[in-house]
Amino acid sequence: MNAIPGGPGFTVPALPTRVVFGPGRLAALGEELAAAGRGPALLLCSDSGRDLAHRLAAELPGAVVGVFDQARMHVPRHTVEAARKTAAALGARACVAVGGGSAVGLAKALALEADLPYLAVPTTYSGSEMTPVWGITEGGIKTTGRAERVRPDTVVYDPDLTYSLPPDVSVLSGLNAVAHAAEALYAPDRSPLTDLMAREAARAITDALPAVAARPTATGPRSAALYGAWLSGLCLGLTTMSLHHKLCHALGGSLDLPHAATHAVLLPHTLAFNLAGAPEARAHLAQALGDEDPPALLWRLSRELCVPASLRELGADRAGLATVTEQALAVPYANPRPVDRDSLDTILTAAFDGDAPPPLPRTA
Ligand code: NAD
Repeated sequence: MNAIPGGPGFTVPALPTRVVFGPGRLAALGEELAAAGRGPALLLCSDSGRDLAHRLAAELPGAVVGVFDQARMHVPRHTVEAARKTAAALGARACVAVGGGSAVGLAKALALEADLPYLAVPTTYSGSEMTPVWGITEGGIKTTGRAERVRPDTVVYDPDLTYSLPPDVSVLSGLNAVAHAAEALYAPDRSPLTDLMAREAARAITDALPAVAARPTATGPRSAALYGAWLSGLCLGLTTMSLHHKLCHALGGSLDLPHAATHAVLLPHTLAFNLAGAPEARAHLAQALGDEDPPALLWRLSRELCVPASLRELGADRAGLATVTEQALAVPYANPRPVDRDSLDTILTAAFDGDAPPPLPRTA
């Protein structure tokens, strides 16, 4: 069932990032900084990472020269400039991003524009640290691109750091990661490796989330969720995403909706549409999640975990959906099923109203 030789063949790029994973492994950060050999580092974080960043700065004198704590969602241009000035003033030759996709996004911008390499210490399940995709927002427009130099030297995944991630944020971030894995399963550039990683990621995260929500400081579920997030991030970095990610990008940009929550609300709907035309991906996901109808399972899991059911609950304006449809039709991209105005309207209306996704046709 994997995309094995005998089919059209596949390419697997090199995996360039060193990964250090496990409870307590943050203790290795000093060694990892020294091994990377880049010189003194500036710690980058957002509000929630400030205490941890200052603790690390105190523990690693010499290796860390300061903390910049103004990382924000979508990497505003002014934060990039402020961080660049701080790094120059403190003589930093590298950065350490401590936090979620916002801190990693800022580190990527500095790697791209200020030639500052970085290490990442992720505390959410966004997966950005595993991709070469960067983004910077200026004047309301987010410019994105791909560049190998925005990958970190090393990623330290320490599940202990995720205990403080609130249960609701954890669940949304976890479902955001499941979306990366799910779309990798029908990506035009998938491989046997990405199929295996995507299945394992989807299984690990969906198994772990109920326990993460119920017992946010339990090591096992937190480790499993972060392990799944790492694999999901790899899938995101190694394959080309389709309809689901395009729609989330358009919804976030046009209607200013929260990133992870938008993924969580939309995923059952986009998967119900796409898996009906992607039998292999459906079979992979069904096996990983233990349900013949993966979108229906994700819908039930989301209700069980109190995920907002609708785009309306996230603050979307129904009139704005037309703009999202136009954006999703404007640029062609690979997708397992052709997308037209009617199908987009059906998906977005169901997601806006909070309807359950339509059941997948039964398999023979
Ligand atoms: P985020 O970094 O803003 O974190 C979400 C929330 O969790 C924030 O309020 C943050 O302060 C809080 N938080 C993070 N870690 C915490 C902790 N340990 N304890 C308590 N609170 C904590 O957002 P995110 O969901 O991690 O990432 C979303 C951003 O990343 C978006 O801007 C998205 O576009 C980007 N992203 C980029 C890529 C890529 O490949 N370039 C991939 C995924 C996401």
